[in-house]
Amino acid sequence: MKLQQFNEYCYAFTGAVNIGYCQKDGKGLLIDAGLDESAAKKVLRLLKLQELPLDYCIVTHAHTDHFGGAAYLKKETGIPLYSPPMESAIIENPLLEPIYLFNGANPINELRNKFLEGPPVKVDFHIETGENEIGPFVIEALDMPGHSYAQKGLLIEDILYAADGYFGTEALEKHVIPFIIDADQTLSTLEKLLHIKCKGAIPGHGRYEEDFSETIRQNQKVHEERIHALFQLIENKEDGESLESLTKEFLTLHTIDAKNLGQWLLFRTSVTAYLTHLERIGAIRFYIRDNEPRVSVS
Ligand SMILES: [Zn+2]
Repeated sequence: MKLQQFNEYCYAFTGAVNIGYCQKDGKGLLIDAGLDESAAKKVLRLLKLQELPLDYCIVTHAHTDHFGGAAYLKKETGIPLYSPPMESAIIENPLLEPIYLFNGANPINELRNKFLEGPPVKVDFHIETGENEIGPFVIEALDMPGHSYAQKGLLIEDILYAADGYFGTEALEKHVIPFIIDADQTLSTLEKLLHIKCKGAIPGHGRYEEDFSETIRQNQKVHEERIHALFQLIENKEDGESLESLTKEFLTLHTIDAKNLGQWLLFRTSVTAYLTHLERIGAIRFYIRDNEPRVSVS
């Protein structure tokens, strides 16, 4: 983890998951809290070392790699936590993530790990769309749903903290099928990102870039290709296909070898989101046959 500075006020602790940081008039603001206690500890240690203040923390969305360190951070420093309303519901009740991944049933223990369920923490204030004033900071919160339900990107002092609104090139290649909960929202968030005027942007996973348009276009291309490939699989089945067989075929096509149930469930969510897009545009239909959920071209 390294502290990288972008302008007079804006920085980020960069690593596998980036944590944003801004300081102004003797006050410090953290953007996301890292995966766990150890990540939060590193942030606190680096801030102390550089004699930088910490007064507030905004969590952009309720994925554990972004909020898992928040409980420790709050316990150690007592700083208030901010997050968008619907994301706050999950941050305060983190069992909801393994629950939604596990079809709404109480999850098996295997799914109750730190990558899918962070420690619960109380959110003190909601971040609303548009301008938010927190201490000396004027924060423009931009709706960036698609990767999660109510994720917000934050424009602060001309720097865009884009959360997981897009992924850096390497993260995109690593994930192959990025996690999304809505393909249409993901694509419109990417389109919106192309038109944001700022000095530079940093995603949750990836590098800071002044011109990030090419990276956004790569993200758009990946989702468009995934949707197309999924539709082709369905198109080639005269008799439709069960959701599970289709998911298996789609993962195999992208040479993915899911290592555990948690990983498979995350991929299944993205596949479901792509299928929902295809259903919305009238290209496919969902139906039940022999007690099996299936899709076919419509
Ligand atoms: Zn995320």
